[in-house]
Amino acid sequence: MTSPEEFLAAAEAHSAHNYHPLPVVVATAEGAWMTDVAGRRYLDMLAGYSALNFGHGNRRLLDAARAQLERVTLTSRAFHHDRFADFCTQLAELCGMELVLPMNTGAEAVETAIKTARKWGYRVKGVRDGRAKIVVADNNFHGRTTTIVSFSTDPEARDDFGPYTPGFAIVPYGDLAALEAVVDDDTVAVLLEPIQGEAGVLVPPPGYLAGVRALTRARNVLFIADEIQSGLGRTGRTFACEHEGVVPDMYVLGKALGGGVVPVSAVVSSREVLGVFRPGEHGSTFGGNPLACAVALEVIAILRTGELQRRAAELGDHLHRELAPLLERGAADAVRGRGLWAGVDVNPSRGDGRTVSERLLARGVLVKDTHGATIRIAPPLVISREDLDWGLARVREVLGV
Ligand SMILES: *Cc1c(COP(=O)(O)O)cnc(C)c1O
Repeated sequence: MTSPEEFLAAAEAHSAHNYHPLPVVVATAEGAWMTDVAGRRYLDMLAGYSALNFGHGNRRLLDAARAQLERVTLTSRAFHHDRFADFCTQLAELCGMELVLPMNTGAEAVETAIKTARKWGYRVKGVRDGRAKIVVADNNFHGRTTTIVSFSTDPEARDDFGPYTPGFAIVPYGDLAALEAVVDDDTVAVLLEPIQGEAGVLVPPPGYLAGVRALTRARNVLFIADEIQSGLGRTGRTFACEHEGVVPDMYVLGKALGGGVVPVSAVVSSREVLGVFRPGEHGSTFGGNPLACAVALEVIAILRTGELQRRAAELGDHLHRELAPLLERGAADAVRGRGLWAGVDVNPSRGDGRTVSERLLARGVLVKDTHGATIRIAPPLVISREDLDWGLARVREVLGV
């Protein structure tokens, strides 16, 4: 197979159609650029939904992975390995927390957070067995397991996958009074994205996260921040919660933690909370494996200097300044976001999200639509200002601005 058309036809024929990818077949990538099988280059303005914050083929991450590949890649948690302690210590330190529980995918980390909160509720808070309640927000995206889709409000993600896991209450995102109204003595946790990614980069109203923090503290409820997409530099800070000076009880991390090289996720929290687990009660064969730890350690080292976060903040300000005219010129109905992360609701007069994404693809820019009208812009944080400007010029072009 050499032509993109052949690849696309073969992929259609022999894969489940649980995705609707844009018609591009990537062969190689470096930094913020991808090259397809026909040699055409594309600017990556999606960055693997923020899994590629540090860019494609990041030298430091590849070197760390390569070195570890030659040493040992998997021990299972039946044995210790020599990268594990460093990984846990340094990730805990980056988060200002005490304990780490490593997993692989984001959904697994969210599942881990749910199990942790329930066990904490029964063992520490004293909730009666089987009654633990976790409050989530509408339009959330926390992953694809049967339990997680049980509290999704997106019919696409949820329909036909029941029976659903009970124990969740759903409230409108950004509405503190609604949240307060459902928190009761059986509530063990509030689980939120500090910025909702899949929903279209929805930033909650100012004061919301701080309000959630105050409420959960007052009611002895855990505040779980799913920073899988918002965390690790994307918004111009290490964690999106920092924008409101909020420290949750638990961070859920994934995506960029594996540097786009391997899946690495983790729950990071206090000794009181993650200390509830005893041997045998939870785990994962690949969780915290040597290769994952080696890559994640390099990710943490990159983040520790704060350089990329500053870069994301500066380029992010530039991005949002450049996107503002879309609103003023009627090409967009809304532009949201923080740092190097934006959701643009395309005005229907300019086409829907998918059409706009396809037109951008034809001009050499890769973005992804969500929920019909929205396109998401989230380039690797290592993108140059010139490349970002070039990509934004293409966005203006396809939106007729
Ligand atoms: C992507 C994502 C997840 C799920 O991560 P997977 O690795 O795809 O399982 C969970 N929460 C948020 C906020 C995400 O963006």
